[in-house]
Amino acid sequence: MRKPRALDEFSLTSEPTSAEDFDVERLIRKRETALGYRIMASWGWGADGSGHITARDPEHTDCFWLLAYGVPFGQATVEDLVLVNELGDVIQGQGDINPAAFCIHAPIHANRPDVIGAIHAHTPYGTPFSALAEPLTMTSQEAAAFHQLQGVFHGEEVNVTDIATGQRIAEALGPGRLVVLANHGLLTVGTSVASAVGFYLNAEHAAEVCIKAPNGRKISDEAAAEAHKSVGQELNGWHVFQWLVRSRLNDPCAVG
Ligand SMILES: [Zn+2]
Repeated sequence: MRKPRALDEFSLTSEPTSAEDFDVERLIRKRETALGYRIMASWGWGADGSGHITARDPEHTDCFWLLAYGVPFGQATVEDLVLVNELGDVIQGQGDINPAAFCIHAPIHANRPDVIGAIHAHTPYGTPFSALAEPLTMTSQEAAAFHQLQGVFHGEEVNVTDIATGQRIAEALGPGRLVVLANHGLLTVGTSVASAVGFYLNAEHAAEVCIKAPNGRKISDEAAAEAHKSVGQELNGWHVFQWLVRSRLNDPCAVG
């Protein structure tokens, strides 16, 4: 069993590991998912059960993993994850799922084969910002990660209970990295679970700047595009995740 990386293995040149062996790759994705839930819990996010992280299965690519409903996010382990198929049926693991998680995430995973991980939460700045029903303004370094990679879902379905609504959310996301769900919250995706979570933190920080400095200076399109060349790399989202694991979690190995 591969353990999460030791601290001394990280550097600016560290890169994600991926494996051709399905079992090894599955474990990597499940660990990142459980770690992601614990990172959410480290701020109290999801203490009311809202929010979810999903990870596409490497072998059964139309299925994805998420935390069984009712497990406190701060106690998430790989054993607590369940695998759901394209119909929303739990086909591995024990427990139920949050129906909203399936309705929101399934169309995104179906529409975007490049997306491995997706995360949605109701967060202190993401949700107030979403009530503006606008994309992030380019007023911070973190916002530049979403330059020309964000959409807004303008539907009034603040509780998503059907796949058709999830499909419209997936269309609002389009080829992007972030979709602002109006009056609801933020959702980010990545080519790994780690980068999806890392970019969620970027989006939350960018939303905080938008809320606290609503009349803040916007950087130019050219400057945002230039910053995006670095902060917009998938690898940058992955690095943010590694920092979160090291900075926010006392015992990353506890996820199993
Ligand atoms: Zn929600």
